[in-house]
Amino acid sequence: MKRDITRMGNPVLRQIAQDISKEYLKTDEFTQLLADMKDSMDHYGGIGIAAPQIGISLKVALIELMGFNRYGQEVNLPLTAFINPQIEYVDETSQGFWEGCLSVPGLRGFVERPRKVKVTYLNPMGFEEVLEADGFLATVLQHELDHLFGVLYVDRIKDMRLLTYQEEYDQFIQPPKDEELE
Ligand code: ZN
Repeated sequence: MKRDITRMGNPVLRQIAQDISKEYLKTDEFTQLLADMKDSMDHYGGIGIAAPQIGISLKVALIELMGFNRYGQEVNLPLTAFINPQIEYVDETSQGFWEGCLSVPGLRGFVERPRKVKVTYLNPMGFEEVLEADGFLATVLQHELDHLFGVLYVDRIKDMRLLTYQEEYDQFIQPPKDEELE
């Protein structure tokens, strides 16, 4: 079921979300949470969503990037749930992308982040998995995982002149046909 998206200013987006126990992963409530996150992400057109964005302060985020084309480079990640994720920076050289967020509607900002990361997390079965990613996917991972630690992308914009409304972004910065990070 689609849920309302919490927006910047809602305290739940500023909390450090709670770790999820392996017992809780087996509950119907958790299965329902994942389904609701997926429905909400699809409804609002995001490529990722974190539980605090539907008002639930638990450490889980979903990302789904299929046939996503960014700067001519195809990025693919089937629907993946990242539970209790931990992030390591493999290459701290920074790269920048224009980011948007369902919780900060109507705006876009240029954010620089480390270019390569390694994420260790549990899958919904409770097994540990590791994902190494660079490029655009590394940024998407960092954006979504930040939500589990009370951080929004706007916190990471170094040059506030690079924060724009979506319409002005389309008009002056990037042709609207390009898909963007939500
Ligand atoms: Zn976001």
